[in-house]
Amino acid sequence: MKALIIGSGIGGLSAGIALRRIGYDVSIFEKVREIRPVGAGLSLWPNGIQCFSHLGLHDQVRALGGAMDQMAYVDGPSGETLTRFSLQPLYDRSGIRAYPVARAELQDMLMDEFGRDAIQLGRPLQALHETGDRVTAVFEDGEATGDLLIGADGAHSLVREHVLGKTLPRDYLGYVNYNGIVTVDPDIAPPDSWTTFVGEGKRASVMPIGGGRFYFFFDVPMASGAQPARDTYRDLLQQAFGHWSAPVRRLIAAVDQTSLNRVEIHDIAPLDNWCRGRVALLGDSAHNTCPDLGQGACMAVEDAVVLERALAQSGADIAAGLQTYQSARIARAAELVQRARARSDVTHGKDAGATAAWYQELRQETGAGIIEGILKTVQGSPVFDRFA
Ligand SMILES: Cc1cc2nc3c(=O)[nH]c(=O)nc-3n(C[C@H](O)[C@H](O)[C@H](O)COP(=O)(O)OP(=O)(O)OC[C@H]3O[C@@H](n4cnc5c(N)ncnc54)[C@H](O)[C@@H]3O)c2cc1C
Repeated sequence: MKALIIGSGIGGLSAGIALRRIGYDVSIFEKVREIRPVGAGLSLWPNGIQCFSHLGLHDQVRALGGAMDQMAYVDGPSGETLTRFSLQPLYDRSGIRAYPVARAELQDMLMDEFGRDAIQLGRPLQALHETGDRVTAVFEDGEATGDLLIGADGAHSLVREHVLGKTLPRDYLGYVNYNGIVTVDPDIAPPDSWTTFVGEGKRASVMPIGGGRFYFFFDVPMASGAQPARDTYRDLLQQAFGHWSAPVRRLIAAVDQTSLNRVEIHDIAPLDNWCRGRVALLGDSAHNTCPDLGQGACMAVEDAVVLERALAQSGADIAAGLQTYQSARIARAAELVQRARARSDVTHGKDAGATAAWYQELRQETGAGIIEGILKTVQGSPVFDRFA
C-alpha cells in the first residue's frame, strides 16, 4: 500500500514512521525547502512520550529532553513563589516522564528516523483528487498517486479544504507569544523546574530542555495585526515586563533577539469531520489548538498511533480504516481544543475576575490539583494502559 503524507512537521513525520511499521510504502511531501520550526521548544507530556515509545522512539526523545522534575508558579511582579511541587507523582502514575525538547531537534530526529530520502522538500501540494481507489496529489512539477493521503499540513491546511469543502476561520486568542532558548541560569529559575511567572494576564515561563538550556516563552495580551520589526522585540518585552521581578528581567536580558520567535496565537473550533474517502487529516490540520495545555504536538503523535492501529485492522478497506481513526480521535481532540481555549482565557485575563481568582488558587495549590488535571489528559492516551 502506498501512503502520501503532506507536511513534514511532527504530525506528518510521526504518521510516516507509524505507517511504515504496518508495511506501508510512505512518501512525505513538504512545502518548504528548509525546515524552520515556528516555536523554539515543546513540552512533551507523558501521553505524547507514551506514543513516541510505541513508535520505538523513547530513547531518542529522552536524549533530547530536559530533566523537568518540578513545577512552580511565581508572582511575576513581586517574585513571590505561589506554589512549587514535584512532578514525580505525575510520572509515577503515568509510568513515564515528560520531556521538554527543542522543537527543531525533535523534528530533526524524526526526519532521521523516517529517512530523509523519502521526504521531498520544496514540493507544496496544490490540489488533490480521488479516482476509484487511488488518490492523486498535484504539485507544480508533477503528480504522485497513492492508496491514501494524509493531510498533516498544519493549521492552514489545504487538505482540510478538500475534506470539508470550505475554508475554516482561525480565531485569535487575544495574545502574542514570544519564544526562544537561553542557557540555564539558576538566577532565573531552578534548572530542573518548569517555572511560570504570572501577573496582569501575562506570563513569562522557562522550561528545561536538553543541553543545559531553558526553552522560554512570554505571553502578552494585545490586539492582533501589529507587525513590529524583529529588532524591537526585546524592547517590547521590556515594556511589558520591565517592572517585574529580577529573574524575569534577567531572562529578558539573556534573550538572543535574532532567534526570538513572535507568534499571534490562534485556534480553530473543533471540526465535525476529518476524512473524505481515502483522505484524512492529522495533527494541526485536524485540531489546531492554542498552546495553553502544551498538547498540540502530543495530540499529533497520538493521531499517528491511532491511525496505525486503525489501518492495520482495516487492511484493504482504507476508507473504513480512516473512519475508525476519525471516530477514535475526534472527541478527544475537540475536548482538548476547548479545554486549552478555556485555560487560555483564564491565563490571559479575558475575564479579570477569573484570572485574579486563579492567581489566588495558585497560592493554595499543593500540586495535587494541577497533576490531576494533567493526568486526566494523559489517561486518554491511546497507549496509556501499557505504561501506568
Ligand atoms: C508557540 C507554540 C507553542 C507550542 N507548544 C507546544 C507544546 O509545548 N507541546 C505540544 O505538544 N504542542 C505545542 N504546540 C503545538 C505544536 O507546535 C503543534 O501542534 C504541532 O507542531 C503540529 O504539528 P503538525 O505536524 O500537525 O503541523 P506543523 O508543525 O505545522 O507542520 C505542517 C507542515 O506542513 C507543511 N505544509 C503546509 N502546507 C503544505 C502544502 N500545501 N504542501 C506541502 N506541505 C505543506 C508545513 O510547511 C509544515 O512543515 C505549540 C504551538 C505554538 C504555536
